[in-house]
Amino acid sequence: MNATDLLTALRRRDVTVSREADNLVVEGPEGLVTESDIADVRARKADLLRVLGCVAPGTDWDDVAWRAEAMKGQLPTYRRPLPLLVARPERPYTGGACVSCGDLIQAPRCAACIAAVNLTIRRWEQAGEATAP
Ligand SMILES: [Zn+2]
Repeated sequence: MNATDLLTALRRRDVTVSREADNLVVEGPEGLVTESDIADVRARKADLLRVLGCVAPGTDWDDVAWRAEAMKGQLPTYRRPLPLLVARPERPYTGGACVSCGDLIQAPRCAACIAAVNLTIRRWEQAGEATAP
């Protein structure tokens, strides 16, 4: 299980992992955070810090995870230029909305879509899935 899968699995049980500087904070309802959860988080600490470094504080992981999953399939086989990665490609753009997901906000992209783009590109580059030009 990679770091993003672990975050999603924990979130489904109302357990959250957040980043505070170079530390991870695991929180959840009393009795729900197990020693196994802590061991899993510790084993993936470096990757979790990288993943959570893409996510602005206060942004819900669930909102980022589905967007990143939608964007993953839009990555090209070449290195550059990257296409515009969007969470809902089927949705037509409307003014006053996030260009990626369509949520009504007064900014080009919402915080969850920004995090999803950063995370998607970082993971793609780390995996070496792009070929050199
Ligand atoms: Zn968005």
